[in-house]
Amino acid sequence: MATGFYSHPVFLQHEMGEHHPECPDRLRAIEDQLIASRVDAFIEHRSAPGATDAQLALVHTFAFIADLEARSPAQGYAMIDPDTIMNPHTLDAARHAAGAAIAATDAVLSGELDNAFCSVRPPGHHAEPARAMGFCFYNNVAIAARHALEHHGLARVAVIDFDVHHGNGTEAAFRDDPRVLMCGIFQHPFYPYSGADCEAPNILNTPVPAYTKGEQVREIVETVWLPKLRTFAPEMVFISAGFDAHREDDMGLLGLVEADYAWITARLLEIARECAHGRIVSCLEGGYNLSALGRSVAAHLRVLAEG
Ligand SMILES: [Zn+2]
Repeated sequence: MATGFYSHPVFLQHEMGEHHPECPDRLRAIEDQLIASRVDAFIEHRSAPGATDAQLALVHTFAFIADLEARSPAQGYAMIDPDTIMNPHTLDAARHAAGAAIAATDAVLSGELDNAFCSVRPPGHHAEPARAMGFCFYNNVAIAARHALEHHGLARVAVIDFDVHHGNGTEAAFRDDPRVLMCGIFQHPFYPYSGADCEAPNILNTPVPAYTKGEQVREIVETVWLPKLRTFAPEMVFISAGFDAHREDDMGLLGLVEADYAWITARLLEIARECAHGRIVSCLEGGYNLSALGRSVAAHLRVLAEG
């Protein structure tokens, strides 16, 4: 048994212009840091397959899937919003990003892997059922979570989102779906300016103000998330693993460091072991300071791989 690490060369071909922070070097920085930190020796590299239309449609409307395909450029760029841009490889990369999360879910549920991390781009948690936004096209984690419910017959899954931004797309997919408990911590008020007023009983949003540090985040996880997760008893845990709440990441203004990501990962692993046979699938979301991103993913993966 092992920790899987899903990637694909097409993730490096999707790019949104020269100075865009959501860039191919993010994944290179992660892989470099895994080698430098020797975490690479403890993970099993796997290639991400592409998701089918039917799999994308677990979360997205067929009209949305067709509309994105129609707007995909043969050359140059096509702008979805000022920050969310397609090049000719974007939708292929996005399909493999969703496919990574699905394949990781299959491998963990079949017992081939203990857990898995999907080192993917584009990210997914801002993508709503009928809308691409915020660097995201298909909602990788939401698709995988619904795949676990629909195709593997799980009754309850948890979706954890610790990206600095609210996972509005994931919330839109699962609001009022009692099979899913979503726990999200994010800077507020901040892009995408949602999540602070959700009253759905299965959405546990814990917005925090700018300059919140790791100590306060740990206290929220300990006192608010963990009791609710234990009561819910998920059969599998999905993580929208954004690392842009790192104190060195200029995208946001929170103060987490590698040790905080390791601590949160360890707590989630405890929950997964208590309730879910240890089953965790984690997918990369944000994280834009290349050094901090690489170090944070290494810390996250070290806990997943060594427990
Ligand atoms: Zn983010």
